[in-house]
Amino acid sequence: MKVSKFGGSSLASAHQVSKVCEIIAADPERRLVVVSAPGKRDKEDIKVTDLLIEMAQARLSKKNGAEELSQIVDRYGEIAKGHDVPVSSVNAIAEDLRNRLTADTHNEDLYLETIKAAGEDNCAKLIVDVLRARGIEAHYVSPKEAGMTLSHEPGNAQVLKKSYERLRLLRDRPGVTIFPGFFGYSDSGSVVTFPRGGSDITGAILARAVNAEVYENFTDVDSVFAANPTIIDHPVPIRELTFREMRELSYAGFSVFHDEALEPVFHAEIPVNILNTNNPKAPGTQIVTTRELESDRPVVGIAAIDEICSIYVSKYLMNREIGFGRQLLEILENEAISFEHAPSGIDNMSIILRESSFSHDVETRVTQRIRKELNIDDVSVERGLALVMIVGEGMNHSVGIAARACAAFAHAGVNIEMINQGSSEVSMMFGVKAEDMQATVQSLYREFFE
Ligand code: ASP
Repeated sequence: MKVSKFGGSSLASAHQVSKVCEIIAADPERRLVVVSAPGKRDKEDIKVTDLLIEMAQARLSKKNGAEELSQIVDRYGEIAKGHDVPVSSVNAIAEDLRNRLTADTHNEDLYLETIKAAGEDNCAKLIVDVLRARGIEAHYVSPKEAGMTLSHEPGNAQVLKKSYERLRLLRDRPGVTIFPGFFGYSDSGSVVTFPRGGSDITGAILARAVNAEVYENFTDVDSVFAANPTIIDHPVPIRELTFREMRELSYAGFSVFHDEALEPVFHAEIPVNILNTNNPKAPGTQIVTTRELESDRPVVGIAAIDEICSIYVSKYLMNREIGFGRQLLEILENEAISFEHAPSGIDNMSIILRESSFSHDVETRVTQRIRKELNIDDVSVERGLALVMIVGEGMNHSVGIAARACAAFAHAGVNIEMINQGSSEVSMMFGVKAEDMQATVQSLYREFFE
């Protein structure tokens, strides 16, 4: 059996929902379907999940949220109107939303979680009605009843291992099961959501639970591309890549697929197929455990992220001091900051962080502590950096990749601030000034793809 997940843009309008129904009907193996909440119909539009958050915030700031509520009901109403769905379906959605909106707000986290989850929950119910109107046997299943048990981390939940056994029973359900993505329940019975974009995670968990033959992830692009299309004009499509390659690329900004979603399918070795709802015949991109390497294409993709900063610490004879690295990282741990990389030299160490986790206040505290507790020679912080990564399993077997990459930097006239090959052997990472990011990606693309 296949697990098929449809993202928000695939469910944004009545027309898009028709395409989804056709895709489901076209293959009897598509028996477990995960849906997002309706997304944007066009660039200026707003996602239902964002509307729901606005609605919750309105109520929490002592407004009634009625305007947002009616906007959301209209979104579902518009989808229903394009299909032969009874009016009662939309009335039930309106009532469900009203109940959530007027619920107790004592625990704000819990309140917000319940409202956020309404997007996918009601979407799943509506899709069931649309499929039934087309004569397809479809059933809604609630994540609670199915056993999707998550850690109690609102907005950042993780699946608990014990969920898998119960979720496995979804295999035996008749017809097509429609499962709402993005949320589950904690042990205490409260709604908890995954991070934003988390319906991808739901799909991956289900694919693993039922041991699916493939996890199909329907989105709105024909494939994953070798570089960001806003930086490179018509980049080459990637037909196949490994889990490790996809992990590295999504880490550095490839947003087609939620990076946390790979974990469950990676361990179960279930292939993922990224497909386009608007062009389902296109082969898409397959993510697999191993692939045949092309000797003329050692790099599969180039990714880049900005808003990066680094803390540079130097101390003469640092290499002789036992526990220096631990003490330095402990200061960050105390501030609850996760770091990205820590390249080091004999007498210096840099900690690479995302700027979003390192405000100026935190910077002052952290640098003061480093100075005071570690007795260092120098500490400085550099902001406005970017990380550019070239990724490919084939790099490990090819000679001269670093030389080619460095030549590309030289052609672009860009200074490399940092190089980190790490131990993964699947990627090579370069730190550059953020203003050089685009030129770097273009030059690397020319070197490895043209
Ligand atoms: N609807 C949620 C969001 O917008 C989850 C998802 O679409 O995957 O983040």
